[in-house]
Amino acid sequence: MNNQILQQQLDSIVATSTPFKAVYGPVQSWRFGRSLGIDPIGSVSTCSFNCVYCQLGKIEYQSLHRRIFVPTQQIHQELQSFTPSDIDCVTLSGSGEPTLALNLAEILITAKAFTNKTIAVLTNGSLLLDASVREALAIADLVAVKFDAVSIRQFHLVNRSLSDLDLMNLWAGILEFRRMYTGRLAIQTMLLTEWHDREQEIYISLMQTLCPDEIQLNTPTRPKPLTHLLEARGNHLPENSDLGRSLKYVSVDLLQSFANRIQSTLEIPVRYPQVTE
Ligand code: SF4
Repeated sequence: MNNQILQQQLDSIVATSTPFKAVYGPVQSWRFGRSLGIDPIGSVSTCSFNCVYCQLGKIEYQSLHRRIFVPTQQIHQELQSFTPSDIDCVTLSGSGEPTLALNLAEILITAKAFTNKTIAVLTNGSLLLDASVREALAIADLVAVKFDAVSIRQFHLVNRSLSDLDLMNLWAGILEFRRMYTGRLAIQTMLLTEWHDREQEIYISLMQTLCPDEIQLNTPTRPKPLTHLLEARGNHLPENSDLGRSLKYVSVDLLQSFANRIQSTLEIPVRYPQVTE
């Protein structure tokens, strides 16, 4: 499909959807506190992955093509109706992979001008081999990179990426970013089942090489929406929603035991939610 036809199709979906707000929240997060969300992707969920646990439901458009989805001017205008002192941080994630937004650097500069609080980006890391993406991301104070798999099989089962992406290149991009980034780098890992001893060992060895500033372990306790709901950007399905599908998840005890094992080897803080909802 050429880009013009694709753009027409996306525009027609957007035209028939509910009005889109790029700035939302603030939402309460165990990782970031009271966080104001910026969605640089728009009302059509767009990502290079299609993770089994994604809170956006099935990704509507899988892509590695960077373009401007939401004009920076719109984000600037919407930010004016929020009070910067009322939040702990600003987080870019929203309706897909934020590094697909070609105006990522502009959006981060706009967010920094809005508040002196932490500006965070949640990314799946799939574009980190691109130097222009690394440069844009480096403007953020905190970058949290998803890393859910230590084997190709696990990567395909959990992240279900586009076929042109592979785990080795993904890891190479994360390492490259670590080398040049002076902000705070967090690795986010979602566990759907207990990892075998060998998988845990490989993970710890990879983290030893990477030296992130923090590791965040999580498990998908919230049901996965069956369709894309903008409300799910804040990780909260609407009250009484029956649109969610329950997923496999692990206990807090298991997260704690993995965290203890990591910390017995590495001097890296490991955080995980204290309760499963
Ligand atoms: S990387 Fe994030 S937005 Fe993309 S499919 Fe996975 S959970 Fe969803």
